[in-house]
Amino acid sequence: MNDDKQKTLCAHVEEELQVNDPQAYMALIQPATHYCKGCGRSAANAENLCKPQKL
Ligand SMILES: [Zn+2]
Repeated sequence: MNDDKQKTLCAHVEEELQVNDPQAYMALIQPATHYCKGCGRSAANAENLCKPQKL
């Protein structure tokens, strides 16, 4: 199980969290306040992005 909130979305997506647990994935990205300059993903918490940039 993935309960680590500090893990980046980049890592979560590599493990296909968005496929295995869409609800948990949506909780991480809504409401998006930051996006990642590295991979372009957006997230509710800056700590879930490898290169966070405020939206
Ligand atoms: Zn990233």
